[in-house]
Amino acid sequence: MDDYYATTPGPELAEPYLREVLDSAGLAVEYVRAQGNTLYQRTDDGELPVADFAGGYGSVLLGHNHPAIVARAKELLDGGTPVHAQFSRHPYANRLAAELNRIIHRELCTDEPYYAVFANSGAEAVEAAIKHAELDRGMRVAELLERTAARRSSVRAAVADGTATVPDTVLSTLGVTARPDSAAERFALAEEEIERRARELTARPPMFLSLEGGFHGKLAASVQLTHNEGYRLPFAALAAQARFVPQDRPDILKEIHAEERGVLPEPAVVDGQVTLVEREFPVFCAFLLEPVQGEGGIRELSAEFAREIQEFCAAIDCPVVVDEIQSGMGRTGTLLASSPLGLRGDYYTLAKTLGGGIAKTSVMLVRRTWYRKEFEIVHSSTFAKDSFSCHIALKVLELLEADDGAAYRRAEERGEALRSMLTRLHTDFPDVVADVRGRGLMLGLEFRDQSESASAEIRQAAQGGLFGYVLAGHLLRRHRVRTFPTASAVNTLRFEPSVEVDDTQIAQLETGLRDVCALLRAQDGAALGSA
Ligand code: PMP
Repeated sequence: MDDYYATTPGPELAEPYLREVLDSAGLAVEYVRAQGNTLYQRTDDGELPVADFAGGYGSVLLGHNHPAIVARAKELLDGGTPVHAQFSRHPYANRLAAELNRIIHRELCTDEPYYAVFANSGAEAVEAAIKHAELDRGMRVAELLERTAARRSSVRAAVADGTATVPDTVLSTLGVTARPDSAAERFALAEEEIERRARELTARPPMFLSLEGGFHGKLAASVQLTHNEGYRLPFAALAAQARFVPQDRPDILKEIHAEERGVLPEPAVVDGQVTLVEREFPVFCAFLLEPVQGEGGIRELSAEFAREIQEFCAAIDCPVVVDEIQSGMGRTGTLLASSPLGLRGDYYTLAKTLGGGIAKTSVMLVRRTWYRKEFEIVHSSTFAKDSFSCHIALKVLELLEADDGAAYRRAEERGEALRSMLTRLHTDFPDVVADVRGRGLMLGLEFRDQSESASAEIRQAAQGGLFGYVLAGHLLRRHRVRTFPTASAVNTLRFEPSVEVDDTQIAQLETGLRDVCALLRAQDGAALGSA
């Protein structure tokens, strides 16, 4: 390691406030090395191993600096891989897309292709999905307007040549009060109103649906689909808004549809009379969901609600975007956490572990029936689809799939070991622990609310939203265990270690959590916050 940069103190210019917050919870440590499920913390006398249960926020399922991934990276760099060769053939990107398709087809029992658009971060893949969905919606709007304009013109011709009359009901349905005698004039008034409605509907911003507790990123559009108000509201003016759907309330879906749907009247001639047919206007742009909410507190979507959402979206012609950025890439025992739910996404987003812990890459996949090739012209990124990231991602898939999917099974098995420890803890400390949730290596431990704690330190931390960070600080300082609360549910600690996590590290975490639980039971805030 180059010691100059590591040891020469500089002014705190990189997000100094965040540094202060981390400092206050004792989390502002520096890591100098990482291997497997361990990070090495710099200390005055050298290095201190820390068991990593944060797992790069889900980015290192295979472990830090996996030897085969590092070897591949070296090979690529030594071989002078053309990292930047934009606007040329990218066979490695094609191979990666094909391999993702092969695995997804196996999991979904389908053979319909998903086209891939690559990006560089999770939120960027979500932004690409949002943009693609809006491009598609815009094209569906244009197709609808063109179709109804053509139908209107044939009805207009029928009215002009006297083969169709325009009854009062047409005008009254449209809210037109005038009743001219001439059929042509009556139809012109009806058309004027239909066109006004079409303009109004076209001007409406797209309607996105997302789940309460959902997290889809913090960029301009994706943050508007992220439920957490703290992240979302300061930027509400920047992008289209979402309606947030409560979990497991299928009744609400119909309600939302009734409230938000747009209808464009279209004239038709039946038995020599003009009548109006209602055409559904494409208002709904996309329904975004996570099969297991990560930042929302590790909450699984039920198979039943997944089915209801799927049916609802199919009925209203709205694509389902399954955000697998945190849950996917094998973390829960399958490439897609949504496949065992029977959910079939129209879009998928993948990131984090796709880059094997060293590349920054993500992908948006769109099912062929929804895909708009025009998107490839209007969307791009200098860094996306580069050879280095694609080759690394291919290596990740190779490692996941090796030995008939041993890594998936390992994620499941390690997840079970971790989960049974957390469940024991829940049983022993029901007064302190509220719940254990999650699947595979995506687990959460929810603590009971401490905002009324007898201890001033605990109470203040809870009221200030820092409770989970105080627990994380204690676990790090006292037990050399790294974990964090989930971003939008700060009473829940997340556990997303790599498949390399062993029983010793799970026991180390158990010791730490038992200590935390005992201190909470004793309401000993001083000990919890002490170094
Ligand atoms: N979607 C989900 C489900 C996520 O968990 C995250 C990150 N926690 C994102 C999107 C955003 O990814 P990134 O931080 O790479 O932008």
